[in-house]
Amino acid sequence: MSFSKITSFLILLACCWSTSSLQAQKTSNHGNKFEQIDPMLPSPNQYRGMDGAPGPDYWQQRCDYDIDATLDTDNQRLDGSELITYYNQSPHTLRYLWMQLDENQFSAENTSHRFDPSSIKGTMSEMQLKALQAWEQMDKHGVNIEAVTDEDGEALSYFINNTMMRIDLPEPLEPGDKISFRVNWHYYLVDRVLFSELSSMAFSSYPRGGYEFFPKDGNYLYTISQWYPRLCAYTDVEGWQNQQFTGQAEFALTFGNFLVKMTVPEDHMVGSTGECLNYSTVLTPTQMGRWKQAQNASEPVEIVTLAEAKKLEKKKKAKGTKTWIFKADQVRDFAWTASRKFIWDAMPYKTSEGKNVMCMSYYGKEAYPIYSRYSTKAVKQTLKTYSDFTIPYPYPVAISVEAANGMEYPMICFNPGRAEEDGTYTAQAKHAAISVIIHEVGHNYFPMIINSDERQWTWMDEGMNSFVEFLAESEFDNNYPSSYGAGHTIVDYMRLPKERLEPIMTNGENLIDFGSNAYVKPAAALNVLRETVMGRELFDRAFKEYCTRWAFKNPTPADFFRTMEDASGVDLDWFWRGWFYSIESTDISLDSIKWYKVDLENNPEKRTQSFPNKKKAPAYSISKERNKEAGMKFTVDEDDDLRDFYTDYRPWETEDSLTQIEVNLFEETFSADEKKKLYGDKNYYELHFSNKGGLVMPVIIEWTFEDGTKEVERIPAQIWRKDESKFTKVFVKNKEVTGIVIDPYKETVDTDESNNNWPVKQLPSRFQVFKKHKVEKQLNPMQKAKKKGIKP
Ligand SMILES: [Zn+2]
Repeated sequence: MSFSKITSFLILLACCWSTSSLQAQKTSNHGNKFEQIDPMLPSPNQYRGMDGAPGPDYWQQRCDYDIDATLDTDNQRLDGSELITYYNQSPHTLRYLWMQLDENQFSAENTSHRFDPSSIKGTMSEMQLKALQAWEQMDKHGVNIEAVTDEDGEALSYFINNTMMRIDLPEPLEPGDKISFRVNWHYYLVDRVLFSELSSMAFSSYPRGGYEFFPKDGNYLYTISQWYPRLCAYTDVEGWQNQQFTGQAEFALTFGNFLVKMTVPEDHMVGSTGECLNYSTVLTPTQMGRWKQAQNASEPVEIVTLAEAKKLEKKKKAKGTKTWIFKADQVRDFAWTASRKFIWDAMPYKTSEGKNVMCMSYYGKEAYPIYSRYSTKAVKQTLKTYSDFTIPYPYPVAISVEAANGMEYPMICFNPGRAEEDGTYTAQAKHAAISVIIHEVGHNYFPMIINSDERQWTWMDEGMNSFVEFLAESEFDNNYPSSYGAGHTIVDYMRLPKERLEPIMTNGENLIDFGSNAYVKPAAALNVLRETVMGRELFDRAFKEYCTRWAFKNPTPADFFRTMEDASGVDLDWFWRGWFYSIESTDISLDSIKWYKVDLENNPEKRTQSFPNKKKAPAYSISKERNKEAGMKFTVDEDDDLRDFYTDYRPWETEDSLTQIEVNLFEETFSADEKKKLYGDKNYYELHFSNKGGLVMPVIIEWTFEDGTKEVERIPAQIWRKDESKFTKVFVKNKEVTGIVIDPYKETVDTDESNNNWPVKQLPSRFQVFKKHKVEKQLNPMQKAKKKGIKP
């Protein structure tokens, strides 16, 4: 009522701006952007609920490993023997098991090496030429399976398809049963540095483990990962996840308990997933004393010092060996590291449950300047922030190892962070190290605890992890130069031509721009959701609920989408549809503005409005006739008293009832004084917006008034519900407006800011002036990620 009153006596007082003369006039643009996405999601069932939580019959498999491994540092060879116990907790009978032989990514026969296109450039380095036939570098690599036997030593039949091995069971494995069997194998470790370089040139088979040789001191640093034949995940969603490993999309794994014994040269220090069961035999008494001291330290304690590490790496190589024993429960994977070069430091982090978690770092002297200062502290910061936003850190240790590149495993990860030779380092090198440490330690949560299928959905671990990494970096230092999270980090990607974009919901193997799509865009999307769409409180509660529901389980995207709505009471289907399933971008344009003031002189003319007469029920209808014909009995008879009663109380059905109501909407007009008092000083701004990018997003308006003050107003995305291409909205301001900026904090990822201002601002195009022309090597986002040490 009040709205129509105002509009009817407003008169345009001559001020009108149009920033775009060509406004598309569409008669109707009601699309599907606000429709529910249920048809695109898998149907809820007894395993996964409609609320996004695990269902009443949710199940997952379990797989325990008991492994003996021997590292031969003369031949760069790893030998292993593992006793696997597989628990079939599914409701299905299994006739065979699938295992992952990831090291076969470096087998010369692997067909995936032929996937990658290549081309000749004007000048080519020797390494680029080598990369064209990278498999020639692989003659001795790949897993050699020596035996697959049952508990009694009887051979089991198996076959290998590239990185997958199927073991046929002598008898079907019934639901609720378990089976133990043994696999013996060996393989030659790859030169991690050489293969990193090759993979950045022409093929995607990026090495996540292997050895690095340090020619200056003649020592090796080993990172042992994807090193034992591992069970494929078998789930209610896709049965066996046995898509080949090509080196790009990562892993799908099963939780279980590990007991691992590693035999290494006696002068090597070992760091590993899990808790060491025999420090008392493998450490010296001095080291053991320092380890105990570190349990209550407030700063990192060096268990192996720089001086000791430098001395050891110059020594003659030891002849004897030592066996280290580690145990880890409820982990989906297991990795370790060994070297003579390691400095080792540790300090505790106390969880909210009062548990002591040992934060530790292992690094060579090359990384000492950065790592001794920041690594273990960054590990601790990561556990603190992630525990606050997800669940308390459940494992006994968290380790950062300096290994020139970044890769994550439960409780242990490998990161870059070397200083210059003179011991100095740039701020950039420091931040790159801290960022990757936080990122890789953060992977303890996504996917090591919240165990999503990385082979299928890279964004579920990388994107979510990059988002929480951003939160941890911000808690570490509010001015931290984070590469992900803030909306502006993804603007350049989102304004690329559409043929170069792909939705976040794309399989990890098929992504063109892995870094932008699987890391930066989902991290920005989650931050937009938190800061701009839901608000921190609702988002944080819902995100924590997702992490709590799916800790130590296998969530899918639908479980995440559903939980975020279920736990917050916010309908987000439009957001998932736009940000995760489409390639549209935000470009909200402020097309024109009209400024109105109330006419203080003239009163409106009297108007009347008619309400239509109520339709009378017809005396006869086909239904009534047929009811009578059918001989139906009626409760109320034609001449019943009760019927009269009804008639009496239905005056509108009688002839003389009111057929038209005349209402004078403006019976009381305002006097000039009254109007002046109520509306005289108010300014009515009618803003006309259009959606040029496609994404429907909240509209954030910053008003600047004539007295210099500012006000920020937030319009929810639902403003676009009835028309996804444009809307007009009136804003009432007591003060005159001198300027308007749309999205002043650059939080909606608007790809064209030239239409975000009134008065229209010319954004300068810049041209560059060089003193000397320097040709910079152009890196694509994937190479940039690699340069920063983030695995592809
Ligand atoms: Zn990552």
